[in-house]
Amino acid sequence: MNLPKKFNIKKIPAIINLVYNRGQYELHFVYEIDKETVKSESEGIVGVDIGEIHPMASHDGVVTEIFNGRYIRSLYRLRNKVIASFGKKIDRCERHSQRWWHLVKHKWKRIKKIDNQIMDGLHKHTAKFVKLCESRDIGTIVLGDLTGIRENINYGKRANQKLHQWAFGKITQLITYKAKALGIKVEVIDESYTSQTCPNCGNRKKPTNRNYACKCGFAYHRDGVGAINIRQKYLGLLGQPVAATMASPVVIRLEVRRCSA
Ligand SMILES: [Zn+2]
Repeated sequence: MNLPKKFNIKKIPAIINLVYNRGQYELHFVYEIDKETVKSESEGIVGVDIGEIHPMASHDGVVTEIFNGRYIRSLYRLRNKVIASFGKKIDRCERHSQRWWHLVKHKWKRIKKIDNQIMDGLHKHTAKFVKLCESRDIGTIVLGDLTGIRENINYGKRANQKLHQWAFGKITQLITYKAKALGIKVEVIDESYTSQTCPNCGNRKKPTNRNYACKCGFAYHRDGVGAINIRQKYLGLLGQPVAATMASPVVIRLEVRRCSA
């Protein structure tokens, strides 16, 4: 008897037909394929934590990747510096005078240039991330919703808070449309407790610095913990120990030519 390569002898067929075909009898086995199982077996799920220090951290069940935010943060600082220095000069001159208009025009010209560079950086980060997802057969990208960013305290200046909120929304938007173009599903879930829950023992503790450390001995990159837990929460497993041993996160840097604004 010739059996096809992927013939599953253990699985019970739904229908068996005995078919007469050109002088010989053939047995036709018809199986029902569970679509849900096929999907979860062939397509991965990646959790994404959108943060302030790093624009994105992701975890797909095996690999944790941190998208380094140094370049974008330096642009935030430059933006604030430009606003502050122009602000002082503008305050010193008569409102609506020729010099006042000149300064206001130049201030916005420089800010616009910096904003374009920030936008370009976010485009590159999200494009790289979505491409990585495609190469790894990721079927679903899970993002935390916007509420988390407001729960966090100590932004420093209000200008920074506004920038982070803007970037958070932009990253969500960019990932969503880039993923959809590649046929990858994007799900947004409530991210509460995802930054606090220990992936090893389920205890809740607010991280106090860049690293998450639990009394059970588990220590990991703070944003990595967020990404792991967003994935766990989507799977309905938040607080349950993560099966895989956690490898150190891989840092992904943005390759950009530095240019002054
Ligand atoms: Zn723990």
